[in-house]
Amino acid sequence: MTLKPVLAALALCSASVLAEPAPIALAIHGGAGTIDPAKMSADTRAAVQAKLDEALTSGYAVLKRGDSALDAVEAAVRVLEDSPLFNAGVGAVYTWDEGHELDASIMDGATLEAGAVAGVRTVKNPITLARHVMTDSPHVMLAGAGAEAFAAEQGLPQVANSHFDTESRLRSLKDAKAKIEAQEAVNHKAAVERLDTPFKMGTVGAVALDQGGNLAAATSTGGMTAKRWGRIGDSPVIGAGTYADNESCAVSATGHGEYFIRYNVAADICARVKYQGVTLEAASNTVIMERLKGVGGTGGVITVDPQGRVAMPFNTGGMYRASIDGQGNKVIAIWQEALE
Ligand code: ASP
Repeated sequence: MTLKPVLAALALCSASVLAEPAPIALAIHGGAGTIDPAKMSADTRAAVQAKLDEALTSGYAVLKRGDSALDAVEAAVRVLEDSPLFNAGVGAVYTWDEGHELDASIMDGATLEAGAVAGVRTVKNPITLARHVMTDSPHVMLAGAGAEAFAAEQGLPQVANSHFDTESRLRSLKDAKAKIEAQEAVNHKAAVERLDTPFKMGTVGAVALDQGGNLAAATSTGGMTAKRWGRIGDSPVIGAGTYADNESCAVSATGHGEYFIRYNVAADICARVKYQGVTLEAASNTVIMERLKGVGGTGGVITVDPQGRVAMPFNTGGMYRASIDGQGNKVIAIWQEALE
């Protein structure tokens, strides 16, 4: 027997032992805003940190066992929707009429399929409804009563609108209305725009890369405190609040939705990566720290690319966020520095 086949077999064997496993990565957010460290109690900070960790861990477990990026982002967002700490699902902000109208969207970077819902009032987990819109309806976006009828047809859990109530969000509504009404005689538009960022924050989202190299993004929100007239923000708008494309990146946004819609933020970041060939970090920073900041658009994004690199810039005081990148580096953070 010659040595050649033996050596070849040995080489093959060691190559497969040494082959790097495909990277997986997950990033989540719980909203961007002023978030004054001096005003946050140690208990609240610990509770937020624990919930971010729980959402990250549950989404990451999905990726580790080889399931899809879509499954991972949906799992992570559901944990945050079920928590009263964030402005999505339970804990959603109140509309002007003291109710809740929820928006959500999800996108598959492999197929560019997407699903979104806007202004739903009785669906327990809007992100799951958005996924059903993507997979089980011929449409991309459903709104209001029609979206709820579709949810019922799909057999999704429905709840009373009061299921989403929290005392602290009701106080925020009363505070916001008092501020708006004090200036209303002048101009409702200006009064709403002058509201502090706390009234516009707490949206949740997730982006992921799975073992198959597929990207996905998901975003869910109660929108903006004291919103009226069926206002819809960026979160359910594909390209604005959510975008995923295997050829560039996956993005979930949080911030002042009107700006994110007009600047097409999520799609713009992916387009820069795809057509300008710039890094994910450079594209995300340009859009959030230059373009948006320059015009007064407050907020941030979480982003991931096909190599498992993660970028999470924000131009506000803080952004609740957590990630595990393709190299396994884990971060949980609210302000610039990671939490201990
Ligand atoms: N972007 C959301 C909206 O405008 C709000 C947020 O991110 O907190 O509806």
